[in-house]
Amino acid sequence: MDAMFARELKLGGRAAVNYAALDRVERRTERVDGIDAVVFFNPGRVASVMAQVDEESLRRRPCFLCPDGIGPEQLTLDWTSPAGQAYWIRVNPFPIFDRHFTVSVARHERQQIAGHFADMLALAEQAPEYVFFYNGPMCGASAPDHMHFQAVPAGNMPLERAIRSADAVRFAAKREGVVICRVDRYAQGAYMLSSTDREALERQFGLLLAKGEIPSAEEWEPRMNLLTWYGPGGWTTVVFFRAESRPVCFWSKVPGRRIQISPGAVEMAGVAIVADRESFKRLNARRLGAIIREVSSDTPISF
Ligand SMILES: [Zn+2]
Repeated sequence: MDAMFARELKLGGRAAVNYAALDRVERRTERVDGIDAVVFFNPGRVASVMAQVDEESLRRRPCFLCPDGIGPEQLTLDWTSPAGQAYWIRVNPFPIFDRHFTVSVARHERQQIAGHFADMLALAEQAPEYVFFYNGPMCGASAPDHMHFQAVPAGNMPLERAIRSADAVRFAAKREGVVICRVDRYAQGAYMLSSTDREALERQFGLLLAKGEIPSAEEWEPRMNLLTWYGPGGWTTVVFFRAESRPVCFWSKVPGRRIQISPGAVEMAGVAIVADRESFKRLNARRLGAIIREVSSDTPISF
C-alpha cells in the first residue's frame, strides 16, 4: 500500500495535488465529553460531505470505485482475502489524513458488511499500521452502491487513541474470550469488541449486530460505522450504532444554524470534517457534542 501511495504521488495527478493541500487544512481542537475532538476545514472533501446518496442520484453518476469511473492516474492494487474475495485497493483522491485508501470489492455490489467482516479482520492483521473503517450505506458512505472499506494510519482519531489506552470504555461482558465493552465517552450507542481469536470475534460481532435495529424495509443492516485495528492484543472492532444519517442542522434554512457535516466513522471517532468556512466557524464543542448525540443510537443493548 505504501509503495503504491509513493508511486501514485509521483505521477503528479489529482492525488498529488490533494495530498499536498492537506498540509494547509485548517484545524481546531474542541474538548467534547473528555475527548479532544478535532475539527478540520477541508474544502477538498466537499464531494463527500455533500454527497447525494439517494437511489436516483446514484443511478445517474458513474461509480467512482469501478474501473470505468476512476481517474486516469489512479493505480489499483489487487488483494484477495483469505476467504477468496477479490478487492481493489486505491489511494483515496480526496484524503482526510496523509495516506488514505479505499478497499473496494472487485465487483459492483451494495455496501453491506455481511459476508465481508472477516475480510476486514484480515486486512487489519496484514496492515497493523492502519485502521480500517466501514461506513454503513446510511452513515457517511458516499458510495453506498459499492461495497468498500477505507484505511488511514493508526493513531489519528482521538477516540481510537482513548480506546487503545483502555480509556473511554467500560466492561460489559466476556463471551468466548471476546471482551465486550461499552464506549462511555463522546459517542453513544458504541461498543468495543476485542479478541485474539478471529472466529470467536466474528461470531460475537454477528450476535451484536443482530441486536441492532433495522429502521426501515428499504435498509438491510442496522445503521452503523465500524473501526477495526490489529495489535499486540489481537483485533479490536468498534461498532457505532447510529440513529440518523445527518443531523437536522445539515439542512437548516435558518442563517447561522446550518452546519454541513456528514458523520461517518471518522467523525464518530472524534475527527469532524467540514468543507465550508461557515460550518467550520460554527462547529464549537457544544454543537459538535449535540450533533454526535443526535446521530448516535440511544437504544440500549443488554449482554
Ligand atoms: Zn462500483
